[in-house]
Amino acid sequence: MKIDQTKVYGIYVHIPFCLQKCAYCDFTSYPGELSRADYYLETLKKEMSYYQGISADTVYIGGGTPTCLSKNQLCSLVDAIKRNFTLTEDCEITVECNPKTADEAYFSALFLQGVNRLSIGTQSFCDKELSMLGRVHNAEEAKQCVQMAKNAGFTNINLDLMFGLPGQSMASFMQSVSELISLAPTHISAYSLILEEDTPLYSRVDSGELVLPDEDVERSMYRVLVDELSKAGYQQYEISNFSLPGFESRHNNKYWERAPYIGLGAAAHSHIGMLRFANPDELDRYIKTAKLPPAEGRETEFLTEKDAMSEFMFLGLRKMRGVSQKQFYESFGKPMTEVFSEPIQKHCQRNLLEWKDDHLCLTNRGIDVSNSVFCEFLLD
Ligand code: SF4
Repeated sequence: MKIDQTKVYGIYVHIPFCLQKCAYCDFTSYPGELSRADYYLETLKKEMSYYQGISADTVYIGGGTPTCLSKNQLCSLVDAIKRNFTLTEDCEITVECNPKTADEAYFSALFLQGVNRLSIGTQSFCDKELSMLGRVHNAEEAKQCVQMAKNAGFTNINLDLMFGLPGQSMASFMQSVSELISLAPTHISAYSLILEEDTPLYSRVDSGELVLPDEDVERSMYRVLVDELSKAGYQQYEISNFSLPGFESRHNNKYWERAPYIGLGAAAHSHIGMLRFANPDELDRYIKTAKLPPAEGRETEFLTEKDAMSEFMFLGLRKMRGVSQKQFYESFGKPMTEVFSEPIQKHCQRNLLEWKDDHLCLTNRGIDVSNSVFCEFLLD
């Protein structure tokens, strides 16, 4: 495939290794396969050589747990990215980290290599909840990790938080929110637990051993979170994401704004022009496929104009500022209110969507039922 060299891309690199599998996790991660990391990194370098010279303004190294790699391995990966792509001067370079896997020297090495943003998987500040989730760290280790990252020079740090956990009370959630705010991250990603079948946590809930909070409690947790973060100066800019002014995740914004991005590594997805394609999840299959040029031998989807218009709506509506009529017209040459007249009218009447000047956005009620709102923007 021909890649438009005039565009500026985001780059996602997937590291599919972890110390151990968390009890709720169905991401592509292979604990116990870390001995294959060197070979995996060589494969990644081969894969990125197909994109040589392409410009990028965001890089996101996620997983899995990238910081499972030794600091030399991870720094050599960042170095390879810098050599293969033309990174803009202000390129946002994020690395995901599990609190148990990095110390100050590790963070200093990443910082010196040009990494300028960390995303730390804190998840909860209640040890009982962390242990139930199968996380390898406790709350104190998570706090120390944030401090070590700051000592190493990082000033842009995301912390992850989960809610709606089995056995989680409103009081323990409030405690986690307050601990999280006291660590003063620049960005917070907060997600309700999604129970995935075939995970140990699913079996424990399914058997009745663990009990999830009911839906009303979970919604209250979300509302409390939004209020507390707002009081602490965080702006909610997406359903699950909050930041201090000026610290929105530029990389994640690319996904919601349908900007082009390149995914490298097992299970990584790419969006280039009207094409979306995904690398295989399984390590051996990925290693075979990575030797082929972009998109070849991968699961591929050619987007029609209708697909692209639907994506524009359901991805863009995740953002609090919503979707712009003007941008829709500039992208597709048709008025949004004509293409989606029915769902827009219906959801505005039900107070699930509202207009703010040129932008259509979710109301607070709409956020609670966002998935069912999004479904109605699918075009046949
Ligand atoms: S650290 Fe993340 S990717 Fe790894 S097992 Fe836990 S949830 Fe999954």
